[in-house]
Amino acid sequence: MNGIIENYKEFIDIGDANPISMGEGSTPLLNSNFLSKKIGADVFIKVEGCNPSGSFKDRGMVVAVCMALHRKKRVLVCASTGNTSASASAYAAKFGLVSAIIVPNGNIAKGKLSQAMAFGAKIIAINGSFDDALNIVRKLEDYDEIEIVNSINPYRIEGQKSAAFEILDDIGEIDSLCIPVGNAGNITAYWKGFKEYNSKFGFKLPKMYGFQAEGASPIVKNEIIENPETIATAIRIGNPASWDKANEAVTYSDGAIKAVSDEEIIDSYVNLARHDGVFCEPASAAGIAGLIKYSKNYKFDGQKIVCVVTGNGLKDPSTSEKHASSKIFEVNSNLDDVLKIIN
Ligand SMILES: *Cc1c(COP(=O)(O)O)cnc(C)c1O
Repeated sequence: MNGIIENYKEFIDIGDANPISMGEGSTPLLNSNFLSKKIGADVFIKVEGCNPSGSFKDRGMVVAVCMALHRKKRVLVCASTGNTSASASAYAAKFGLVSAIIVPNGNIAKGKLSQAMAFGAKIIAINGSFDDALNIVRKLEDYDEIEIVNSINPYRIEGQKSAAFEILDDIGEIDSLCIPVGNAGNITAYWKGFKEYNSKFGFKLPKMYGFQAEGASPIVKNEIIENPETIATAIRIGNPASWDKANEAVTYSDGAIKAVSDEEIIDSYVNLARHDGVFCEPASAAGIAGLIKYSKNYKFDGQKIVCVVTGNGLKDPSTSEKHASSKIFEVNSNLDDVLKIIN
């Protein structure tokens, strides 16, 4: 199966490195009946949980690892709220590299940590935040054998922009994109992708709408948040690495970056599963929460809109246990009792 490097080789420059793939990209773009009706628009969701390790991070990771192999690196290192480490350790396992991941102790969703453990990563849990972890990683830049695969790695952005290409290839030009924002690498990547297809094929540029969680909304507040707090751990970021580029994307596209509350995130997370059959992790629902909350402000009705749903719900089973719409009926094992519940 071709991955994004082969599919978009015209746009992703890997020089004379060998393309690699774990089948990332080519994710479903589904029309959402429930959101389309609610907003009065044509709303699609890009289901990035269908990537090999369950999040969009694989799109960037495959290019970063491709180049790391080409440069004879031995170790992949990243700071991570979870999905970058799950992705890095999967590619490391497949392509014979060591992965070392630096995570904030106790703040990683269970599913993501179990992935890194399964893939054999060296897991280093620090007593600090994601931002502390990233500060340590930045200091490893000068070590020859080490490739840093956080989104400060430019190849990550190059790979992640492929999602914008896929959208335009699938449904043509769109009016707006709604996307969760943590470190702001992904919104930066989509913007780059849209701009490249605009120059090459003339597709118009969509308005870019990024959404942060209220307790972790440095870009909205225009200040670093020392202790970011949100149930959406993948976007619990107080000092985004691609802060300026995210601002550039929304300014040039006439979009915005806004905040949504944890309640609004959970509400969208539950409803997406309940009405569209798509189970995502909480952070992934921030774009949908934003679409709903700011629908009037930005006149989303009548538009063709894509919401990026960034990661798989299985990554964070504790949240679904707490908030899911179903409960478990405990009954005796006989037909009558079972029928009572079914009816
Ligand atoms: C990494 C991640 C985000 C945030 O993306 P950024 O590029 O950091 O803005 C959102 N959702 C999920 C599931 C993620 O893994």
